[in-house]
Amino acid sequence: MEDYLIRVITTNKEIRALAVRSTDLVNEGQKRHQTTPVATAALGRTLTGALLVGSLIKSGDEIILKIKGDGPIGTIVADANQEGEVRGYVTNPNIKFLKNKAGKLDVARAVGKGQLSVTKINRFKDPYEGKVALVSGEIAEDLTYYFTSSEQIPSAVGLGVLVDTDLSVKAAGGFLIQLLPDASDETIERLEENLKKIKSVSKMIESGFTPEELLDKLLEGFEYRLMARKDVVYKCRCSRERSSELVLSLGEEEIKKTLQEQGQIEVQCHFCNEKYRFLEEEINELMSNQSAE
Ligand SMILES: [Zn+2]
Repeated sequence: MEDYLIRVITTNKEIRALAVRSTDLVNEGQKRHQTTPVATAALGRTLTGALLVGSLIKSGDEIILKIKGDGPIGTIVADANQEGEVRGYVTNPNIKFLKNKAGKLDVARAVGKGQLSVTKINRFKDPYEGKVALVSGEIAEDLTYYFTSSEQIPSAVGLGVLVDTDLSVKAAGGFLIQLLPDASDETIERLEENLKKIKSVSKMIESGFTPEELLDKLLEGFEYRLMARKDVVYKCRCSRERSSELVLSLGEEEIKKTLQEQGQIEVQCHFCNEKYRFLEEEINELMSNQSAE
């Protein structure tokens, strides 16, 4: 099965729901950043959450989901667009194995106390940022709080990542349920009953649940219509050209100094760990092109 995301609306127009399978892309993130299990879970939940948030924006726009706590993992960043492309990183990918009392990977302890922010980026407007304090550091609960408090939309978010013994990702996925303005008390009660029955999203994905089957459980008793389905991937938008701009932005003095010390300038992308190396000859050419413009 491949990674994909679906968005639906109930036929009574009272609930909007999204579900995603993100196993392969979280696995890609694990490999690129060589994350240890707790960091994999934290990064994977953030990547999956960013895809859900990024599916509610306009085509061409982007969102950045940032979780900045005081725990050992540092900051977790993921950015996603409406096309289903996501990328991300954590400050400390190789933090120690942390387990909580229930024997689960302790993401909350790795994250600590701090803030969650969502920045919406539109080419023609100033970026818009919504911020909330972290309520648990478990990320799904924090996103739920973000939607309810910052966007004033009653929501429920579930995110899950299951890490295998060989450090790869066994299963990952998530859902987002939102009440639309005219939702009745009956709808709310029914939905709450359904949500109580959901124990673990990652276990459901592991046992072969598709995003549709996940929503069948969450929206039991409701009829719904499929509004969108799209493939989701881990994709970085860095390039040699963009990296060369970064090199030039260092300024002539800094460039000369680095070349003298290291014989080259290396730019590494935070999001995918790709390294771009620039030798003196190429940098000189870039600089002369720049001054010719
Ligand atoms: Zn990159």
